[in-house]
Amino acid sequence: MSETASSDLDRRLRAYQGRAAGGGTGKDPVNAPMIRHWCEVIGDRNPVCAGKEPLAPPAMLQVWTMAGLSGGPGGTGAYAELTALLAESGCTAVVATDCEQEYLRPLRPGEVITFESVIESVSPRKRTRLGAGHFVTTVMEIRADGVPAGRHRFRVLRYTPGAPPAKPAAPRPERPRPVVNRDNAGFWDGVAERRLLIQRCTDCERLRFPWLPGCAGCGSPRWTTVDSAGTGTVHSFVVMHHPPFPAFDPPYAVGLIELAEGVRMISNVVGVEPGRITVGMPVRLEFLDAGEGQLLPVFRAVEPGRRLLPPLVVPVTRTLIIAGALACRDYQDVHHDPEAARAKGAPDIFMNILTTYGLVGRYVAENFGPGAVIERMAIRLGVPNYPGDVLTLTGSVADRGELSEVAVTGVNALGRHVMGTVTLREAGR
Ligand code: ZN
Repeated sequence: MSETASSDLDRRLRAYQGRAAGGGTGKDPVNAPMIRHWCEVIGDRNPVCAGKEPLAPPAMLQVWTMAGLSGGPGGTGAYAELTALLAESGCTAVVATDCEQEYLRPLRPGEVITFESVIESVSPRKRTRLGAGHFVTTVMEIRADGVPAGRHRFRVLRYTPGAPPAKPAAPRPERPRPVVNRDNAGFWDGVAERRLLIQRCTDCERLRFPWLPGCAGCGSPRWTTVDSAGTGTVHSFVVMHHPPFPAFDPPYAVGLIELAEGVRMISNVVGVEPGRITVGMPVRLEFLDAGEGQLLPVFRAVEPGRRLLPPLVVPVTRTLIIAGALACRDYQDVHHDPEAARAKGAPDIFMNILTTYGLVGRYVAENFGPGAVIERMAIRLGVPNYPGDVLTLTGSVADRGELSEVAVTGVNALGRHVMGTVTLREAGR
């Protein structure tokens, strides 16, 4: 597209900002069967969402507004025009990228849902890994029995699909293997046993890292090892954006970690948005499974005042992807039809954003118990969840006055699938 044509398109797209996108009444009132079906698929065992008078899980907010397989009530003329204009410019494919929801109160069976949405913004053309396109953000106000119940901000990418791959995407390239030699084999033997071993000179007791045949202090070739406690701080770090390397998912952080024992080592800092890493930040050792039995020591950031939550491991089956989409009445073909997904440039069907949303909600509910009240959830999607993968959710929580703020990250074999922030009121607060 020429620059003039592109700026003309941007101007026409911007004119849709602020216009009504749609609205209507939910096809069904909030109801127990849909809540039960959703909870079964997501694996949400929160007792307040079960029984005869269940509360709807907060992450179902948008579900009550979905049009389902038969479509309608559909968007406004303005929204249809915007979609048509984008399709004319080649943006025929669509994928959800971000979602942010605020919950004013829980929804109960019998409540009638009404909603109105507005086109909040349309971005200029951007290049993405799926293809070039425009981000369209809508904001929906949701009422239950006429009373405000929540707000749902949704961003999709409407894009020009790249050429469909001739065959499913090649497996993710493996990370480079460490070079193991006589001088450092003891270190890698330790890693295989999930131990971080530091050399200690037998003669002068000086610790050294990385592993070397002789002591830099006294020259002695005699040494033994000590187990690192695995705690330390970030002494220095860089955030890698470019150039891209196979098997690495930028941006990612490479840190010089000062271990509590006093030696320093280079590794990845994980579990925190790279932009939030600071010098002096405490970190804790963990072992990353880099595939085919290769473990690598990495360091998980512990932001000041935060505590870590145990991980949740979710096998991403074809059944979960399809059942998840149907439990939210999302009939976009890319979530159930592999042929259609391939025609749109994906190697297979992939999980819809609402299922990811539900899994993040489940993770938080499991960690904080049935008495916790979620007030807000915002997530951003990264790489897709394809069938056969495994999603591991990890999180940390910080006190924010009366509320708690949970940072959640979900990774799969392709990299970061989701990053999110959940604000909640813990039980008894
Ligand atoms: Zn020595």
